[in-house]
Amino acid sequence: MDKKTFVSLDQLNEITKTYPTPFHLYDEKGIRENARKLKEAFSWNPGFREYFAVKATPNPYILKILQECGCGTDCSSKTELMLSDALGFHGHDIMFSSNDTPPEEFKLADELGAIINLDDITHIACLEETLGHIPKTICCRYNPGGIFTISNGIMDNPGDAKYGMTTEQITEAYQILKAKGAEEFGIHAFLASNTVTNDYYPMLAKVLFQLAVSLKKETGVHIKFINLSGGIGVAYKPEQKPNDIAKIGEGVRKVYEEILVPAGMGDVAIYTELGRFMLAPYGCLVTKAIHEKHTHKEYIGVDACAVNLMRPAMYGAYHHITVMGKEHAPCDCKYDVVGSLCENNDKFAIDRMLPHIDMGDLLVIHDTGAHGFAMGYNYNGRLRSAELLLKEDGSVQMIRRAETPKDYFATFDFSDILKDMKY
Ligand SMILES: *Cc1c(COP(=O)(O)O)cnc(C)c1O
Repeated sequence: MDKKTFVSLDQLNEITKTYPTPFHLYDEKGIRENARKLKEAFSWNPGFREYFAVKATPNPYILKILQECGCGTDCSSKTELMLSDALGFHGHDIMFSSNDTPPEEFKLADELGAIINLDDITHIACLEETLGHIPKTICCRYNPGGIFTISNGIMDNPGDAKYGMTTEQITEAYQILKAKGAEEFGIHAFLASNTVTNDYYPMLAKVLFQLAVSLKKETGVHIKFINLSGGIGVAYKPEQKPNDIAKIGEGVRKVYEEILVPAGMGDVAIYTELGRFMLAPYGCLVTKAIHEKHTHKEYIGVDACAVNLMRPAMYGAYHHITVMGKEHAPCDCKYDVVGSLCENNDKFAIDRMLPHIDMGDLLVIHDTGAHGFAMGYNYNGRLRSAELLLKEDGSVQMIRRAETPKDYFATFDFSDILKDMKY
């Protein structure tokens, strides 16, 4: 079974004349269509908004496209706040969902008028001390603990996650925040990651809507929004059935009408903070086969490595690979597809059945549009690749150049010990 690529071999042959491999390529058309579908799925909720999780794909051109699609940004750090600000996201266009937050980052978030999402009850004191006040709009992150079971054996383990407040803490946090002058409240939770099921959001919504009703009763606060956060997954494997966002939106609507509307809370806005779902399928890593090695196993060495895509090395994550031009060839060769790092986990695929690969073949590694380039690093002195955008009109724009050795050495003091550096 194969997954379709959004780019053809002819297009790639053209692109590689100008831009050497490896590079990440993004599909503008796919990004826009998907964002439109998400908006439609939640159009029943007048306050609905997606705050794109910047950490998934922190590229200004990508963020600009999402901004045009009506999205805000979800930031987790100072630099992501700075990027959002520079792109013209203002005030409540920005959600600041961070944890273990350095206090000065609260300050910048507040200066930008962002909605601050507190990860812990102790952050209330930290926030007040840092800002000298409590913002009028504030959000708290919830963690019910235990095991969160969704369906078909799909579950995650919030009880083991460092994020969020317990039920008792979030209740107390609301009381304290209200007493200190907060007027509008949000609830946020992220209980399971990369869920490939249409049931996750509706089940999470049920938990949060019930909590909202009881928090309102107990504390009397005005709950303005409920943030379902990230966690909607994508079908990395070809045999997986992708999520149907229309069904997910409909599922959340049902629970909303069951729980919130009867409680007189039919004005609550639904927010999302999706990263993976917004971008992963609309990006790929294009790399070239440069070596083959026949030892105890069959290896294909490519010109990308784990610094360009860390997920396989870090989580053993599956990323589908298409050998371009051989889409219909039999998959009768078993390969480990590897990068050059001096780490044996630098493998994009292990024991993968693929068509016979010739040196110079272009490989498309799928679904790298989120948490792909973003997780890049410089181990072994390897450099980050370029990012390219395949635009709706079929043209290609470089939206980030590849790093050069100069970038890699830039944080040393050239004037001192590296004065004879020739590069
Ligand atoms: C990472 C993250 C997201 C996005 O998660 P995805 O799995 O990419 O959808 C959203 N919100 C917060 C707080 C996150 O940390």
